[in-house]
Amino acid sequence: MFWKKKDAVVSPRWRCKVTGCDFVCDDYITLQKHTFRKHPGFKLHCEVDGCDFTCDDYQMLERHTSWKHPQVEA
Ligand SMILES: [Zn+2]
Ligand SMILES: [Zn+2]
Repeated sequence: MFWKKKDAVVSPRWRCKVTGCDFVCDDYITLQKHTFRKHPGFKLHCEVDGCDFTCDDYQMLERHTSWKHPQVEA
């Protein structure tokens, strides 16, 4: 696909996980602010099958994933 060229803009790292929201950004702080403002009370869930970890912080979820599920690539 022409829009997937390697020299294209680096794809944003952080994506809002709220269903129906397509907000993306490059840094976690911005995403965290977005989430608190737009989706107060939203809980993140670990996406690994069988894991019931939840939190409201993207960085915490990422740390959880890399610690608990080191085989999962984010
Ligand atoms: Zn959002
Ligand atoms: Zn987990």
